[in-house]
Amino acid sequence: MTRSSQFVYTPHMQPQQNTSSNNSGFWRLMSRLKSYKKNVILAILSNVLMAIFTVISIPMIAPFFDILFSQEVVAVPKPTDNNLPDNLDYFFSQLVINYTPQKALLIVIAAILVVFFFKNLFRYLALFFMAPVRNGIIYDLRKQIFEKYIDLPLSFYSTEKKGDLMNRMTSDVQEIEWSILNTIEAIFKAPLIIIGSLTFMILTSPQLTLFVIVLIVFTAFIIGGISKTLKRSSSEVQTRLGRISSILEETLGGLRIIKGFNAQAYQSEKLEKDNSEYRNILTRLLWRRDLSSPLSEFLGIVVVSALLWYGSALVFEKALSPELFFAFIFAFFQVIEPAKSFSSAYYNIQKGLAAVDRVDNLLNTPNPIVDPERPLTDISFNSAINFDDVSFQYDHADTQALDQVDITINKGEVVALVGSSGAGKSTFVDLLPRFFDVTSGAITIDGNDIRSFTLHDLRSLFGIVSQEAILFNDTIKNNILFGATATDAEIEEAARIANVAEFVNVMPDKYESNIGDRGMKLSGGQRQRLTIARAVLRNPPIMILDEATSALDSESELLVQDALEKLMKNRTTVVIAHRLSTIRNADKIVVLDKGKIVEMGSHEQLMALNGEYNKFVEMQTFD
Ligand code: ADP
Repeated sequence: MTRSSQFVYTPHMQPQQNTSSNNSGFWRLMSRLKSYKKNVILAILSNVLMAIFTVISIPMIAPFFDILFSQEVVAVPKPTDNNLPDNLDYFFSQLVINYTPQKALLIVIAAILVVFFFKNLFRYLALFFMAPVRNGIIYDLRKQIFEKYIDLPLSFYSTEKKGDLMNRMTSDVQEIEWSILNTIEAIFKAPLIIIGSLTFMILTSPQLTLFVIVLIVFTAFIIGGISKTLKRSSSEVQTRLGRISSILEETLGGLRIIKGFNAQAYQSEKLEKDNSEYRNILTRLLWRRDLSSPLSEFLGIVVVSALLWYGSALVFEKALSPELFFAFIFAFFQVIEPAKSFSSAYYNIQKGLAAVDRVDNLLNTPNPIVDPERPLTDISFNSAINFDDVSFQYDHADTQALDQVDITINKGEVVALVGSSGAGKSTFVDLLPRFFDVTSGAITIDGNDIRSFTLHDLRSLFGIVSQEAILFNDTIKNNILFGATATDAEIEEAARIANVAEFVNVMPDKYESNIGDRGMKLSGGQRQRLTIARAVLRNPPIMILDEATSALDSESELLVQDALEKLMKNRTTVVIAHRLSTIRNADKIVVLDKGKIVEMGSHEQLMALNGEYNKFVEMQTFD
């Protein structure tokens, strides 16, 4: 029994969390604050102090009116209880008796200035401490999303839209910053001011306070109704925006073809549908959202009018002194702002939580292709790669892309995969570095299941040269290095082997030259040789080649072919072959059809069979 057949593979998947409820979205976001404890505490402290100074400022308005309105000085007896209005009255009369009214006024104004200075100082400090928290959370989110994107298996990307994925990291993250973090600030600040002001109001006149509260609850009820649909609409807006980004992506990438086929109108029409839907949904969303502010202002003035009417009645009945009524109104205005920010926070959070849900859903997407819990550490390749009865089926596909494939690839062999398009050649090579995991059967290296190594160890065995040259907007040097470390001499040696040196040496900046977006500044053949240099530098024991089908001019073709041959020398190679010369030189030719191996052997053996392979050779096409 080989080690592979005993091997039980148990990937430790991340749990898929339930992200459906609003509440949990909110708490998940709040839990992100944990890493910023110090700043959050300082911000809360500043907010508490700000609220305290706000509340202190309220009764300070009273003596001002008291002094101004009552021209003659009346000595008020010292009250015996804790009644706030009586105590304030006594305090003011003492102030005016001990100083002149003008001086008393100056003292009151100076005190007001001091209190407001501190109130605003702490207001600023609260924001000051919150800024790194807001941006820190955004930083964390971007980082996590990016790392998730890099980590997720290729299968994830065949079902997702690129533009949508890009939005997750741009507009969704922005949405979280704007709507949710503003909310967090509102939560820490508003309640303290509301409670402080309300306490003052109740101490001044419980009757009037009750009257005001009833009015406020009534208006809040009306406004609350509007926000219900906001979350759903915002989700739709993001989906549309994702589609628009996808179309833009595709269009910018395919401009040459779009123009060449006169397909501008067709492409514009594609955009039109999503763009106009986006406009309509967003307009409805804005109508609803923008209604909240004018509506609340008008309802606010209704409340104030009622307050003025009822309060004046209390003053006329001598149930309330005029200056305390002024202080009461001032306290009431102090409540309005935080109450408003509280209710707008409620709208915003509906919109923002939709974004939190989308981001969390992404971050919680399980990745089935992970390292084993106890990986084998001694990875090396000494004898053979084995496919043991390997079958593979893509998600949502109804047929097997590979069907009971059995093959041994011995060390040092060149294996050429041949077959018509869709036969399973790409799937075959994608299973080796575990871009996908086999559905059944096993792939082993020297008898060990490839799933028993870490992905990093396993992938370091392979060098990949794909059909399409994947290059990045960077220098020649960095495109060859691509994260590896090597000396300049090693880079130049790899470049020489891959026939890159010739064209790099005539460039003005040599290896430091930038090659443009996806290597735009290079020719097709140069791009291919550059990707070969990248594989040469890593010097992996196994090469996976997908020969380019696109035609190059014969000189380029020769240089690329020469580079590939040097790359394959002394290495085990699996090549998706399109050229007869490559195939003839292979040690083993594997003919695939509908996921099954139909013929296998050397060129001579297969020619003698006079079967499928023979047909390919006669047609002179291997795809
Ligand atoms: P080849 O490389 O020989 O052209 P592939 O290995 O790409 O063939 O494809 C084998 C089969 O799997 C085809 O029928 C193809 O349609 C299907 N297939 C390839 N990729 C996917 C995918 N991501 N999702 C579903 N089916 C796929």
